[in-house]
Formats: sequence, C-alpha cells, structure tokens
Amino acid sequence: MAQKILIDMFKLRTVMTEKCDQSLPEALFYPSPSINGLKTIRELATFRFTCRKCEDAPCIAVCPAEALEKDEEGLINRYTNLCISCKSCVTICPFGTMMTDFFTHHRNKDLFYDLNDSTELRKFMEVSPAGSVSLTDTDELPEEHIYRLNDRILIKEYLYVTENK
Ligand code: SF4
Ligand code: SF4
Repeated sequence: MAQKILIDMFKLRTVMTEKCDQSLPEALFYPSPSINGLKTIRELATFRFTCRKCEDAPCIAVCPAEALEKDEEGLINRYTNLCISCKSCVTICPFGTMMTDFFTHHRNKDLFYDLNDSTELRKFMEVSPAGSVSLTDTDELPEEHIYRLNDRILIKEYLYVTENK
C-alpha cells in the first residue's frame, strides 16, 4: 500500500511567521465532486483542523464578495470563483487561522505541486520547510495530533477543543 503524506501545519505556520511575506510551496490534489473548485491541501487542512469554527463566523460576515459559507459539516468553504483576495477575512479572524498568503492567487506555477504525481511529490518534499512534509506508514494518530484529511494525506495539527466537546 502507498505510503501516506504527512504535512505538519504547525511547522508550516512557524516558517510563515519567521519569513513573514514568503509564500510556501503549495500542494494540490484532485478534489472530490463535493469540494467547490480546486483547493490546496493547506486551505482544506486549515478550515478542517485549524479554524475554531466560530458560531458567528466574522470571516463570513466581513467578506464583501459572499465567497465564504459554512458547509454541511460546519466547515468554512471558500468559493474560489467569487473570492477577490481582499484578505478582509484574514484580518478579522480573531485567531489568526488563515495565513497572510492564504488567498493570494498564486500565478507562479513553480509553487504548486500535484501530489498524485510521484516526481512532483518528491520535489514538493524537497522545497518544503525542513521536516514539514514526510512519508509515513502510519494512519491517523490523534494522541500524536495526526489526523486524516483524505485517503492519502495526514495532517499534524493541534486542535482547539472546548470543555463542552
Ligand atoms: S479574501 Fe476572499 S474570502 Fe476572504 S474576505 Fe476577501 S473575498 Fe472574502
Ligand atoms: S473567524 Fe477564523 S476561526 Fe472563526 S470561523 Fe472564521 S476562519 Fe474560523
């Protein structure tokens, strides 16, 4: 069975903070029909695991293009065809969920890697911050903060959990 790709969101965030305005390499995978538009793994992982899922969702309220909404799971979904990259949602999010480059329309194709392709996967691992992307034989390990994003991708992230959950 093919090894899984483990992406460490904490390490990626640390690098973004340190380098301030540098864009990270992005990884793509072909989305299921239920996902609106082609999304980066970082965006999907951020809304699923990093976002605190605010009840009043100020990010949705502030969006001037009505590009954000909650899906049936309560996850924020961004309509890529509507988003104008104004970053108002980045500014208003009280938890710094989204990185500053998150909604930039990257035109530099060198930043994108298709992880379905083994050559591109290898390149993506080479250019990603040290230790942030690896291959593993393990599966979801919540006790080690590792969660399943899809059949091929595992995400390491520290989930926000309230006492009521
Ligand atoms: S960056 Fe996109 S999703 Fe965010 S507020 Fe602006 S238009 Fe809406
Ligand atoms: S404001 Fe931030 S934490 Fe709250 S729902 Fe929006 S993205 Fe998530």
